[in-house]
Amino acid sequence: MMENILFDNFSKLSKEELIQMLIEIHLLYDNLKPKEKIGPKSSNWGKILPLSDLNSFLENLKNDFELIAPIKTDIVRYEVVEDISQINLTEMPYYSFKKYLQPQEYKIADIKNGKLDYNFEAKKRVVFGAWLCDLMSLPILDKLFLEEDPPDPYYKKMRENTIFIGLISDRQIRDEFLFENRIGVAPKYDLLFFEMEDQYFIDIGSERGRKFVGDLVDYEFEIPKISGSSNLVNIDIADKIDDILWDSENANGSCLGCGSCTLVCPTCMCFSISDDISLDLQSGERKITWDSCQIEGFTKVAGDEVFRDSRLKRFKHRIYHKIQYFKEKYSIPSCTGCGRCIRQCPSKIDYMKIVDELIA
Ligand code: SF4
Ligand code: SF4
Repeated sequence: MMENILFDNFSKLSKEELIQMLIEIHLLYDNLKPKEKIGPKSSNWGKILPLSDLNSFLENLKNDFELIAPIKTDIVRYEVVEDISQINLTEMPYYSFKKYLQPQEYKIADIKNGKLDYNFEAKKRVVFGAWLCDLMSLPILDKLFLEEDPPDPYYKKMRENTIFIGLISDRQIRDEFLFENRIGVAPKYDLLFFEMEDQYFIDIGSERGRKFVGDLVDYEFEIPKISGSSNLVNIDIADKIDDILWDSENANGSCLGCGSCTLVCPTCMCFSISDDISLDLQSGERKITWDSCQIEGFTKVAGDEVFRDSRLKRFKHRIYHKIQYFKEKYSIPSCTGCGRCIRQCPSKIDYMKIVDELIA
């Protein structure tokens, strides 16, 4: 199974095991979007890049795109790369790359002479070194922002202008909070680099990704036929909404309602739209800003009515949104198992432990 192979020290894998691992990833992808799959249906599908050529590969990207990668600042974050030597491929970025698809605050229109001028443009970017759990956020964000009718025009522009290159390496430091092997959401990517000793084996996830590696050496093998099943999370807590466990100290007592969990979550997507406007109502700008369902004002409506007026109601809503409501609508959970909400929670609340207790 993928979860047994993928996250072990895979530099010790045999070639057959590596192939199996790659296939498992593609099976997940197939399960999600069978008709749009572009990829290894025959031999001659992968590419190889020697580790020693990575810097020149990235320098080339940097000439044409804004290059984003995990870099060490005070903490490791996905940031614009000024110098390739800043890139840190071992520590998990504190935040995901979500801000390049939905910035924390951004202008979508100018207000001129009392009229709105929608003029949002997206930069051409490459995100390199994306962690697998963060690549899993792409199908989730796409469901809401791209596949609904109409799609979100700003997300669409940013998504279309951003190339995602993932990386799997046994140098990546995994901590106890990561649980993406329990989620089973198929990652999306344009290219996926598997670091094996002194080479990267590159899987091509899209035609636009293929253009970046066209000149590299092919990696050929026959794909064995195997049968696979969906790894989608199969947890159902629909009938647990009033379970007595929600009254436990872990669920009810310790949530501060600070919203940190939603801030760091790669799939939390709530936002507000506001107008910053001059007193004569003639000039200003319209902005989109992140919001959080964990903040009391989130469900406040006219007349001061607050629909989720307790921290427990808000906390419960977040969990249900992640693994119940979203899945009921889109067939996949809205969680990548990145563990950031647990890692960064000041009360050390582990929401998966609560879920495990609910379904035990
Ligand atoms: S679960 Fe933790 S991070 Fe989230 S609002 Fe509650 S205290 Fe803050
Ligand atoms: S809910 Fe927590 S573990 Fe799941 S994607 Fe969000 S931050 Fe990561």
